[in-house]
Amino acid sequence: MSVAPRVYGGIMRQIFSSQAPVQISARGRSVVRSTIEVDGFGGPVVAIGVRVDIRHSYTADLVVILENPVGERVLLVSERGGEGDDFFFTTFEDQAPVPITAGEAPFSGRFRPEGSLETFAGGQANGTWTLLIADTADQDGGELRRWDLEIEALSPAPPPVAPENILISIRFGGGLTPTQQKAFQFAAARWSQVITSRLPDVMIEGERVTGVRIDASGARIDGPAGILGQAGPVLLRPGSMLPATGVMQFDSGDLAQLERRNGLIDVIIHEMGHVLGIGTLWSTKRLIRGSGTDNPVFVGANAQEVFGVILDAGGPTPVPIANTGGAGTREGHWRESVFGNELMTGFLNDGPNPLSALTIASLADLGYEVNEAVADRFTLPSRLDLAMMGIWAEPATQTCCTLAGTMRPVPQVLPESAVV
Ligand SMILES: [Zn+2]
Repeated sequence: MSVAPRVYGGIMRQIFSSQAPVQISARGRSVVRSTIEVDGFGGPVVAIGVRVDIRHSYTADLVVILENPVGERVLLVSERGGEGDDFFFTTFEDQAPVPITAGEAPFSGRFRPEGSLETFAGGQANGTWTLLIADTADQDGGELRRWDLEIEALSPAPPPVAPENILISIRFGGGLTPTQQKAFQFAAARWSQVITSRLPDVMIEGERVTGVRIDASGARIDGPAGILGQAGPVLLRPGSMLPATGVMQFDSGDLAQLERRNGLIDVIIHEMGHVLGIGTLWSTKRLIRGSGTDNPVFVGANAQEVFGVILDAGGPTPVPIANTGGAGTREGHWRESVFGNELMTGFLNDGPNPLSALTIASLADLGYEVNEAVADRFTLPSRLDLAMMGIWAEPATQTCCTLAGTMRPVPQVLPESAVV
């Protein structure tokens, strides 16, 4: 994958595959084409990789080119491999250590293409991508069995939520730049898609509060790293024990650094999830079993059901939650070593941090009405995926919580008389 240019908004990564094999004739010279339709992205390409499986009895006859939806082309490989056979699951990535020119047939593994895939960065992601294979000589032939395109690009903007259905209102208290404020509003819109409940209005200090009101601010605390700030629910509605107000106050040094790393929006969505009760109200609502042991689990019925489906376990399955870290991390997140880059694990990953159907189901267990249809695509990472994410090698960026990390306010319950 290429290095991501700085972008604003969530990034998603998706793999698209060709539909049918294409024959490469042994008679005469020929150019064959295969196309892949890409859609679902909301912005330009951030990074791209391509994998091909070409069976051919003389790879040095072949020139392979990738073309984007507007006709720009990148040369992947040109007449390499001598008399060798096949490009057997050959992945082309700009970051691969070995150039394809130094490879040998069947070129299994990752290689740097002859051109630069960076050419496609910033260009159109959605549309028809074409793989062109020119067979420059007679006699030998073969088949393009399949090819796959892995694209990282901006996710689509959340479908607009009608103003009366916005669950979260933000009260800005200063110390946040306009782009940081925009990240809070983006996060409020994202969670408002997920949670469809209409919570009863409450009166707080003479002010009528609809939905969840969050006081958001930035302050200088200790610069990048160290303390991120505090985030959590502050006042809970009586009865449902769902939040009426919350706080999100962050160290401006951390916010600036997160913005540079493309992590701001995911961290704001994550911390807003804590304000809504994810990890912060689990214990209050008796949704944790095995607290204090090596294997604490979340036992809400909706989340267990979704986890059972994700696992293909054939039935509801208790969901592993963080069993390491400080007070704010442990038992307040999904377990990183199981869920990898999921948004509500305790660590921010580079690339996408999907808000999964599991997280949405867990909100139903807290007592919200939810819309699971707006979940991000998520699959459980393999051990290899986890290792590649650096989860077992070196610590990923903290979303919050370990060491001093993020403080949690202790929420208070409003009296019955506050309900309008
Ligand atoms: Zn967290």
